Amino acid sequence: MRAPPGRLVLLGHPVAHSLSPTFQNAALRRLGSPLVYEALDVSPPAFAAVFRGLAAERAAGNVTVPHKASAAALCDRLTPVAVRTGAVNTFWVDGGQVVGDNTDVAGFDAAVRALLGDAPANLRVALIGAGGGAAAVLAAVEAWPRCVVGVWNRTQDRASALADRFPAIAHPKEFLADAIRDADLVVNATTIGLRGDDIPVNPALLRRRAAVVDLVYRPGETAWVRLARARGLRACDGLPMLLEQGALAFERWFGVAPDRDVMWAAVGRQARGERREQAGEDAALEASGGGGES
Ligand code: NAP
Repeated sequence: MRAPPGRLVLLGHPVAHSLSPTFQNAALRRLGSPLVYEALDVSPPAFAAVFRGLAAERAAGNVTVPHKASAAALCDRLTPVAVRTGAVNTFWVDGGQVVGDNTDVAGFDAAVRALLGDAPANLRVALIGAGGGAAAVLAAVEAWPRCVVGVWNRTQDRASALADRFPAIAHPKEFLADAIRDADLVVNATTIGLRGDDIPVNPALLRRRAAVVDLVYRPGETAWVRLARARGLRACDGLPMLLEQGALAFERWFGVAPDRDVMWAAVGRQARGERREQAGEDAALEASGGGGES
């Protein structure tokens, strides 16, 4: 185990809704650490000064919306995946230097593997959104064999600019219908569904064998995930990704893996139960041959 950080923080704006303190503090207690993971609401104009001050305290932590790109610009060193995404969600101090990493990429990868029950390959992916979360999705898909991604975003120029950064796999789409047509995996990387029951695309328009990943999470799961499941599609919200990016961040800070069961238990037995139930339903659906293609 490496020397523990002086302080552990989550920097965002807003951050009050975040589940990260709940599961990180559970993991810290299990480790026997006296540290407390604190959520700090930092406005964009204050971010650089706060970040530099925390580095001087040998703090480590996570960065969330809207600060991931700013954090990348302020770190002394970036891991290759942080360079690739242009975004830092995890940082720590090593030898006096602030190191920035991006564990969202591996978090997304793990969530998809769990959902598909297999290593992703040969997938046609529809990616809705073009912000930092979408960049993490593309960085993950880039490592999967023979996958292509149609990127659609409300602001088309951002979809084109993001796709240009991943030219080997990504193609901007002018119309959402073109992105989802024939897609095996459909990913929501927008904020749609975060507060209300808005959905990014009607699951009835997706292939019957498509899998759906919503980066958004909220109590009781998102309306999009619930509707996709009701249609018999495999679907997960952003919670598995959130837990895994947090677990990987914990490993960076302490050099040991956290107890992931403790983390899951902290965010609610109910949420975990729903997921186990869903896994059973998915297995049953798979065994029965799924439905036909739509
Ligand atoms: P971001 O960089 O601010 O990007 C926001 C995206 O949402 C943009 O594509 C934006 O489109 C789109 N958008 C916002 N409001 C919209 C609306 N009303 N209609 C259509 N599109 C809209 O944010 P981010 O970091 O990528 O995060 C996106 C979502 O993913 C957030 O909900 C975040 O919590 C979630 N996320 C979850 C995890 C996890 O671990 N589960 C990790 C990362 C992100 P425009 O370009 O047109 O504005």
